[in-house]
Amino acid sequence: MNQFSFPARPCWAEIDTRALEENYRGLRELARGLASSAECVAVVKGDAYGHSLELCAPAAVRAGAAWLGVTSVEEAIAVRALASAARVLVMGGVFAGQSAAVVEHGITPSVWTLRQVNALEDAARAAGAGAGKFTVHLEIDTGMSRQGVGLDELPEILARFTPDSPLRIEAVMTHLYASDEANRVKSSAQLERLEEALRMVHAANPAAAAKVEFLSAGASAALLGGDGAVVAGIAARWKLKPMLRVGLALYGVAPRFLPAGAAGSGDAGSGAKLRPVMTWKTRVGSLREVPADAEIGYNGTFTATEPMRLALVAVGYADGLDRRLGNRFSLLVRGERAPLVGRVSMDQAVIDVTEIAGVREGDEVVILGVQGGEEVTAYDHADAEGTIPWEVFTRIAPRVERARV
Ligand SMILES: *Cc1c(COP(=O)(O)O)cnc(C)c1O
Repeated sequence: MNQFSFPARPCWAEIDTRALEENYRGLRELARGLASSAECVAVVKGDAYGHSLELCAPAAVRAGAAWLGVTSVEEAIAVRALASAARVLVMGGVFAGQSAAVVEHGITPSVWTLRQVNALEDAARAAGAGAGKFTVHLEIDTGMSRQGVGLDELPEILARFTPDSPLRIEAVMTHLYASDEANRVKSSAQLERLEEALRMVHAANPAAAAKVEFLSAGASAALLGGDGAVVAGIAARWKLKPMLRVGLALYGVAPRFLPAGAAGSGDAGSGAKLRPVMTWKTRVGSLREVPADAEIGYNGTFTATEPMRLALVAVGYADGLDRRLGNRFSLLVRGERAPLVGRVSMDQAVIDVTEIAGVREGDEVVILGVQGGEEVTAYDHADAEGTIPWEVFTRIAPRVERARV
């Protein structure tokens, strides 16, 4: 329920936490197929990709996730409160003033600048951490140019990991930025650089290298496509455990591969059966009949060509329904597709139910998900909105209640 004594405006997302658990186990099995030592980080940044951290972090832990990945220290502290025993990885870097909190909450940061290393070392010392007791994941920039230390600056940062430092490199990490490109040209170049980085770590600081446990590279597309096996191969050569970090697939959506139809693509046919975790719903608030020539919605961008039956639904762009979907997308009611007619308003939209028999006030309307034999997928939204499923999910507004089912 909510803080009121009456039901809220009906616009909510049902979160099937069992689907998430099954997805996690399926993905981990896939990773363990590449290497029995493989670790699978459940990525729960962005409020669990808009699916609710509060619901999804514990579900991932129930499914056996030992590691949860987020972007910020704030998110990491929220995860810590929900999953006290999990390892929590902050992938977005530690900003000035955050190091003491990172140490205090037992969070594992990715690091790549001297400033980060210095600040964390000071914080770990201040907290009384002994030599090598505070672990970090050293991120290498292998080609994305977003974060990570470049190979030219790697020796300088490696020199900071002295035997008496409280910091220890637990993982050598990188982010593959094109695992969804089936030709693997970019990934191959990245993974060559990653292996060069491993060579440098061993040459420049063998003591630190001996304590590295994981090679962390690859997201959903790497695991479902070809990169995962290559990461596992490199990890095996260097006696490391491969660590894959899966986000989108955890929520039941397989990234699409390029070109379309390439191996490992769309259908999630490469081993893991994924089930979408979210169904986003609203209800019919009221119905009306309009005559031919009636204009519908702001600026009358739709004019009825015949007498029509229209349903008003409680979802608008303030809920995260893209305004550009007006006149070019359908929602589901009574298991059938009902076109959005006219512009999407801030808090409301109008669907055409002329051809759908028996639609009544209060009927459930599916914005994203399955109803009857029909489905509206995150990729349907993404394609119509000119974006990707990651953004579709994370744009669903906080005011849309996430309800565990
Ligand atoms: C978001 C993210 C992931 C997970 O990516 P998906 O494509 O959603 O699986 C993995 N690693 C890093 C560094 C990320 O930022």
